Amino acid sequence: MANKTKFQAIKGTRDLLPPDTELWNRVEATAREVFGTFGFGEIRPPIFEPTELFARSIGADTDVVGKEMYTFEDRDNSSISLRPEATASVCRVYIEHGMHAWPQPVKLYYLGPMFRRERPQKGRYRQFYQIGAEVLETVQPGQGGPKDIPKDAAVDAEVIEMVMAFFARLGLEGVQLEINSIGHAAENCRRGYVQKLKAALEQVKDKLGPDSQRRIETNPLRVLDSKLESEQAIIAGLPKISEHLCDDCAKQYAEVKRQLDLRGVKYTENWRLVRGLDYYMRTTFEITARGLGSQNAVCGGGRYDGLVELLGGLPTKGIGFAIGEDRLILSLQEAGKGGAEAGRDVFVAWMGEKAQTSAIAAAQRLRAAGFRVELPPVEQKFGKALGQADKLGARYALILGEDEIATGQWTVKTLADGAQAKMSESEFLEKLKRL
Ligand code: AMP
Repeated sequence: MANKTKFQAIKGTRDLLPPDTELWNRVEATAREVFGTFGFGEIRPPIFEPTELFARSIGADTDVVGKEMYTFEDRDNSSISLRPEATASVCRVYIEHGMHAWPQPVKLYYLGPMFRRERPQKGRYRQFYQIGAEVLETVQPGQGGPKDIPKDAAVDAEVIEMVMAFFARLGLEGVQLEINSIGHAAENCRRGYVQKLKAALEQVKDKLGPDSQRRIETNPLRVLDSKLESEQAIIAGLPKISEHLCDDCAKQYAEVKRQLDLRGVKYTENWRLVRGLDYYMRTTFEITARGLGSQNAVCGGGRYDGLVELLGGLPTKGIGFAIGEDRLILSLQEAGKGGAEAGRDVFVAWMGEKAQTSAIAAAQRLRAAGFRVELPPVEQKFGKALGQADKLGARYALILGEDEIATGQWTVKTLADGAQAKMSESEFLEKLKRL
């Protein structure tokens, strides 16, 4: 007896179906268009990489690497992981393809699925999609250091401006940009701050929840991320990183704000914005949008100078972001901006054997002109044909019978209002183009 198991998509994964996929395609086409105008080129790295690439870049102590990666042993015993994000891949690509020798800076974008074994909920999936971009620049001998601050800040601001331009083009609503600087890993900067933060957290340890208590040891900065109601007042009283930035990081942060102002990009500052991944430094940002409930971050990004070097490349600066495409789409749909277009432009209702030849030719010419055409494979009764045209959401029914073929005058029915008119093929094409 046949096995009747019903297969289902694995928990946390989804099938994307028409007409929703039209919106996905529109979003992706818009990203390509907008990013292209800023001089970015697309890369398509593989979706799996050596596990070590992620462990080393994201950090072995992070939730993403420690708990959420899909890791498996390949047949040659090497450890492979499905990518939980793509910045590490982009850095590997940069190194592997000698991009330090390309005209600098190198501006790249990607889009595609990422994989994290998180607890699924609205806006959070185990296979989700990101659209991201990175700007990488290898530091030339004699360059770098404090004199690069204005340049780096302008690059940061332009990257942020690009995401905001993309969201504006899509008509995303309730977009809010938050920025922060998390300094750099030095005693007189973030490291010193983290020590102070840790000491302050130890003092209030009893009042914190178990997650935050654990993070005092593993990753104190992440406590600032907490959404627990009972911890908010305590967190508000903790030392702030903005008061512990070194001079260079403070200058860079001030310059980023000035550059955002120059570009007319509105932001708010959020000293609690720390980002979950280890490799960020200085500029960090997050963008939220309407209609997403608790998972309302649609984009996160920041600067990560030094990551390429950590992965075996030359000293290289980096700044980038990743947009959560699933959430972006949800927000657009909630705002009624996901309206899929009508299913077909033209339904060819043909009757009689002779008419089939004309119907095939008409469908070919209309499709070649770019219109979406439904051509029934067999003759249908008039009423049934119109019913099907209606169900498919067609705009027009093109009625082809013996009469129409003899006279060369097509009968065109507008399905929205039932109006019917006779016209030549070229007149019909004109009418379609005016849509
Ligand atoms: P991250 O790579 O963690 O900085 O995340 C960047 C963006 O990706 C977030 O702002 C979210 O919009 C999106 N994102 C991250 N994890 C998920 C997930 N599990 N499901 C859906 N979107 C996600």
